[in-house]
Amino acid sequence: MADNDSVDLVVLGSGPGGYTAAFRAADLGLTTALVERRPTLGGVCLNVGCIPSKALLHAARVVEEAREMKAHGLDFGEPTIDLDRLRGWQDKVVGQLTGGLAGLAKKRKVEVIEGTGEFLGPNQIRVTGINDQRVLRFAQAIIAVGSEPVRLPGLPEDPRIIDSTGALALADIPERLLVVGGGIIGLEMATVYQALGSRITVVEMMAQLMPGTDTDLLRPLQRRLQKQCENLYLGTRVGAITATATGLTVSFDGPKAPPTAEFDRVLLALGRIPNSHGVNAPAAGVKVDDYDFIPVDNQQRTNVPHIFAIGDIVGQPMLAHKASHQGKVAAEAAAGLDSVFAARVIPAVAYTDPEIAWVGLTETQAQATGAVFEKGVFPWAASGRALSLGRSEGLTKLLFDPQTHRLLGAGIVGPNAGDLIAEASLAIEMNCEARDLERTVHPHPTLSETVALAAEVFAGTVTDLYLPRK
Ligand code: FAD
Repeated sequence: MADNDSVDLVVLGSGPGGYTAAFRAADLGLTTALVERRPTLGGVCLNVGCIPSKALLHAARVVEEAREMKAHGLDFGEPTIDLDRLRGWQDKVVGQLTGGLAGLAKKRKVEVIEGTGEFLGPNQIRVTGINDQRVLRFAQAIIAVGSEPVRLPGLPEDPRIIDSTGALALADIPERLLVVGGGIIGLEMATVYQALGSRITVVEMMAQLMPGTDTDLLRPLQRRLQKQCENLYLGTRVGAITATATGLTVSFDGPKAPPTAEFDRVLLALGRIPNSHGVNAPAAGVKVDDYDFIPVDNQQRTNVPHIFAIGDIVGQPMLAHKASHQGKVAAEAAAGLDSVFAARVIPAVAYTDPEIAWVGLTETQAQATGAVFEKGVFPWAASGRALSLGRSEGLTKLLFDPQTHRLLGAGIVGPNAGDLIAEASLAIEMNCEARDLERTVHPHPTLSETVALAAEVFAGTVTDLYLPRK
């Protein structure tokens, strides 16, 4: 075992938080090591999260759009699905990105060390690889070890019970799939497997899908899922799961619990928990809270000032773009810059069909906190572009401060909502008022116009709708 290696900065975990931090630190002149237990860089996001799921969601969208055009005179017939090639394409997309990261690390002279890292002390880390161990001394460290799926205790060990990683592996297309958890990941996977031909049941213990989402944004998605899925059970819990030779027998609990049913696969999508348990944080003196998150200040420093933490490990929202922004801040702070993580808002997107996206204040939050707002809502039924896509069910909603007319929040439902929300994020960061959005000339015909039109609705200047005078 070599124990004389020494670096300015060690980054533990190579997800969007970790690789961004390592690359930025190297660019700022720090000798940097990036420790990752997987054989490829990119973390959950690139390997088993954002990227493979979006590739499959694109495939699902193509299937659905082709099906829908049948009513308008274009019939492609039912798709034939070659799973090996579909999986091959998904793997290629992932491989291009993870391979690209390896190349970027090399160019920057970031040393990538494959193995599981754990602290031995406040300036020492041990990396255990498949065949060897190595001890590294570091001046500073960034913990970016991310999160993993929540597991339900007491379930049988059975390969037919899968998590999101299993679902993305696309082993086959089960005839009947039970999705446990109606949050973003569960519904994205339901969207994929439904389009590929599975009969889907979704069970959610709360009274609504994607709990906490504004109901007007949720409605178009729920309507579509109700048509596409075999069953949507709300306010219902999974009781017991019994593995039999022919399938998985599942019982349900709750006031409207359906009878026991059999499924070919059960996908558990119950949320994610931080990976702090594996890094031996106490050895470095780093505090971990009761929920296994690592508390940090606005420079991402833990209670041990030369050790930083970023991404999923520091708490909600568990999103890749939050992780990468925090990664930059931590790297810059480690290099002596006075960077802070001061994002006012972090957008969230469900890449379902339709997509739902929101940023800043939501109506649900405003009701809970008593925040005062006025809103402008533009229904996509009046958008030429939405109609030409055959998708008039969407809406764009902007929440404004009634006094200053500054944008406080936005919610969008409809195809490409995830791309459209970026304009609202920038508008909030830039303190834009309704008239800034209203008077910015948007290209026609685009879905982006709906952002300006929602501001016009708020201002009472809209001409694409008839609204009684304020
Ligand atoms: P991670 O990406 O979790 O990376 C942490 C890395 O650390 C992992 O590679 C892990 O192997 C490594 N590691 C852990 N412990 C150790 C150790 N002791 N030693 C060495 N290495 C270690 N977010 C979005 O913003 N948009 C999306 O569309 C989206 N879709 C998703 C879809 C799915 C199916 C899933 C599961 C997640 C999705 N997410 C999405 C969430 C997103 O993937 C995470 O928020 C993001 O990856 C967190 O980044 P991170 O850098 O904190 O950690």
